[in-house]
Amino acid sequence: MAGVILPRFYGCYNCRKPVARHDDIVSKYFVAGHRKRAFLFSHVVNVVAGPKEDRRLITGVHMVADVHCSDCGKVLGWRYEKVYEEAHKYKEDKTVLVKYKIVKLDW
Ligand SMILES: [Zn+2]
Repeated sequence: MAGVILPRFYGCYNCRKPVARHDDIVSKYFVAGHRKRAFLFSHVVNVVAGPKEDRRLITGVHMVADVHCSDCGKVLGWRYEKVYEEAHKYKEDKTVLVKYKIVKLDW
């Protein structure tokens, strides 16, 4: 069949476990402290969330949980558990993965 496009996956930088699809990126313009680039994903796989905590980020205080690779346990980013400010509500239940902690898998 012509025109079949396989999903482009990002994997954990450490063990290459697939963690997110390129098509699930909501925003590419996130910053993860110290000017590190990060992507916001609507959906991620093979990650485990740590304890929830209120954390002050650039955009205000949000309830977040660090997310770890389910295989090797490395921290890859964080998940927005609860967003208090209306302007940032769209981030709720979405996950930020730090760009240098994910790698393109075969694409
Ligand atoms: Zn890993």
